[in-house]
Amino acid sequence: MEYEVYAIAIDDTYIYYRCPFDLRLIHTHGSDEDLLNRVEFRSGHQSGDCKCKNMKINIGDYTERITLIKGGYYWKKSLKSKKRLKLIYQLQKDKKYIKKKDR
Ligand SMILES: [Zn+2]
Repeated sequence: MEYEVYAIAIDDTYIYYRCPFDLRLIHTHGSDEDLLNRVEFRSGHQSGDCKCKNMKINIGDYTERITLIKGGYYWKKSLKSKKRLKLIYQLQKDKKYIKKKDR
């Protein structure tokens, strides 16, 4: 069984999405420094506190380019990351961004 989710945030390390079984939980999936809109599949291991796997993760214009920081059970937005990620996102859209591993 596959579950479809919509990413709430993305940064150059992770894609953040809410668990379909417990909306208070946020799971992460590697973003590979790619902030562009796309669909990602996460089939592998179970993630920590819950049983979800086989996720189809949608990244779109509704996905904020921002880092989420975990503080206890809750997650908050890192406003500091917003400017930097906005710039990287724009550079990627203009195809002017080179990933760290390709430098
Ligand atoms: Zn889950």
